[in-house]
This record gives sequence, C-alpha cells and structure tokens, in this order.
Amino acid sequence: KPFIHISGLSKVYNKGKANEYPALSDVSLDVKEGDLVSIVGPSGCGKSTLIMIIAGLLEATEGTLEIGGGDGGFDVNRHVGIVFQQSLLLKWRTVLDNVLLPAEFLGLPMREARDRARDLLALVGLQGQEDKYPKQLSGGQQQRVSIARSLVHDPKLVLMDEPFGALDALTREHMNLELLRIWEQSGKTILFVTHGISEAVFLGSKIAVMTSGPARLAKEIDVQLPYP
Ligand code: ADP
Ligand code: ADP
Repeated sequence: KPFIHISGLSKVYNKGKANEYPALSDVSLDVKEGDLVSIVGPSGCGKSTLIMIIAGLLEATEGTLEIGGGDGGFDVNRHVGIVFQQSLLLKWRTVLDNVLLPAEFLGLPMREARDRARDLLALVGLQGQEDKYPKQLSGGQQQRVSIARSLVHDPKLVLMDEPFGALDALTREHMNLELLRIWEQSGKTILFVTHGISEAVFLGSKIAVMTSGPARLAKEIDVQLPYP
C-alpha cells in the first residue's frame, strides 16, 4: 500500500451558496514512503487547497485520503510537519524556542526535544544561531528555522507550500540544494508545492503535475524520474 493514497478528491468552496467554487476536481495521487514529490501547477489550480486537506486543516467535499497505509495509526497532529511560504516565526522567541513549538504543543519530553532541536538547527546550517531572534536572521535563514521546526516532533510526512517563494532567486537556488541534503539525511517523505517547473524538476524524486482546464478540472500526472 502507498504511504499516501488520494483518489477522487474534490473540494468545492462555499458549496450550495451563490459563490460556490470548485477548487479541486477528482484529484488522484499515490505517494511512496521516502519520496520527495514535487506538486507543480499554475497559481490557483488548487495546490494549497490540496495541501490543507492532507494536513487535516480543511475537509474535502468528496474522495478518499489515506495516510500511513490506512491502518489508522497515522495521527495528523503528531505525524505531519508543515512549512509555509512565510516562516511564521514568533518574533519574541529565540530561534531554538521557535523550533521547539510543535514539541511543546504535543507535550513531548522537552529535554529530548531540545537536543533534537539543536541537531536539526545544525542540519539546516544554523549551528551557533540558537539564541538569536528571528529579526536577526535573513529570509533564507528564517526559512531554515521553519524547516527545523517542521521536523522537531519527528513527523513521518513534511508538507511544504511554496517554502522558497518569497526568497530571491540566488537564495532560493541555494535552499533547493540544502533541501535535497536535508531530505537525504532525514529520510522523510516530503510533498513540495511550487508553481516553478524547473524547481519541481530539480527537487522531485517524483513530480505530480496539476492543471486547471476550462472546466477547472485538476488532473494529475506522475512522472518517475531517475534521481541524479
Ligand atoms: P494554488 O495554491 O494552486 O494557488 P489554491 O488552493 O490557493 O491554489 O486556490 C484554488 C482556487 O480556490 C483559487 O481560485 C482560489 O481563489 C480559490 N480559493 C482558495 N481558498 C478559498 C476559499 N476559502 N474560499 C473560496 N475560494 C477559495
Ligand atoms: P519560475 O517558473 O517560477 O520562474 P522556475 O521553474 O524557473 O521558476 O524555477 C527556478 C528555480 O528552480 C530556481 O530559483 C531554483 O530554485 C530552482 N532550480 C532549478 N535548477 C536548479 C539547480 N540546478 N540548482 C538549484 N536550484 C535550481
């Protein structure tokens, strides 16, 4: 069984109202454990909607979503990490204390979490920056912090919604290389949403293409690429 199984997934916003809007229609996607899947498509095709549904933050109108083989052992709160386009760091908390937030929310043992947070900050290249505050960091560094934060509770799945979309081109290229290294070293399953085709091709061990046709039909094609 695939790690994530999505079939016939649809989302209609404001269903039954005058402003009803079909954002996703009949999306299907299977994801293997350990893959870095790029989900690429034009703005407005429903990528964020799909991510929000997988994250359990939004309910689908129709369709099937099974994570973790569908045996019921997968807890979205416990086993998912998320990175958004904005790093959403708390400015009154240090880098280390920002990374610790999910562990605090989940009530995990804090001493171990603190060790793990330090290891993750080293993994994302921020060793020695633990006690700084977010405003002392560059945009790229802030996004590194939010990547460390998304991993602190040792999730099985990491969702990334245009995480480098607000960064300049050079920083973004650098962060892409960093993300590949983080993915390889952490062994996580990652879904990476972008509207940039070359970013999707560069990063993905697998690529899912979302299109929005005249009928706003979101269609997915999986392309298996040899990983360099
Ligand atoms: P993407 O991430 O690919 O840019 P989104 O999932 O954000 O696409 O949005 C898909 C479509 O659904 C867009 O046309 C957007 O305007 C619409 N949409 C998103 N959120 C809502 C909402 N809460 N209510 C109504 N329409 C929405
Ligand atoms: P857009 O379609 O939004 O213009 P592209 O699809 O052209 O964006 O993606 C450009 C991005 O792809 C770069 O900023 C970088 O993040 C990523 N990228 C592509 N090739 C490489 C590479 N060889 N090394 C690092 N990043 C790359």
